[in-house]
Amino acid sequence: MITEKLLQTRSDIENNLRTLLARPVMVTELDAFALPCGCNGITANIRGLELDDIEIFEEQMLAHFKEVASRLEIPPSFIFARLVPGSSVVAAINWRVLCDRCYPEFARTHGKMPRPDIYIVHLERRGGQGRGKKKQR
Ligand SMILES: [Zn+2]
Repeated sequence: MITEKLLQTRSDIENNLRTLLARPVMVTELDAFALPCGCNGITANIRGLELDDIEIFEEQMLAHFKEVASRLEIPPSFIFARLVPGSSVVAAINWRVLCDRCYPEFARTHGKMPRPDIYIVHLERRGGQGRGKKKQR
């Protein structure tokens, strides 16, 4: 059952962040989602995490976030932090498998913060056709 995996993963994410930051961080909820457009993924709602923490520990966090994705069998193609608008408080970490319509919207952007409420930890650019293929040179 997927919810059992979510339960285990919720506490794994929480423990990993606590160990990394050496202070209490809470994953208050871990959700799987599916949008009408075709985007899908998981969202970890978080308390106690700041944008600074991600910037400092980005490499370690990304490695763990990718592991989380693979455990839940979703491609780690787009991972971002959602901020409380106008602040540096991280409200959630999102693993989003972008649909073909939403992908260009994010792929077109440059930099880590295409919107004031989004900090991109990882975005795999699609090369040619087909998912998961590396860009051909
Ligand atoms: Zn979409």
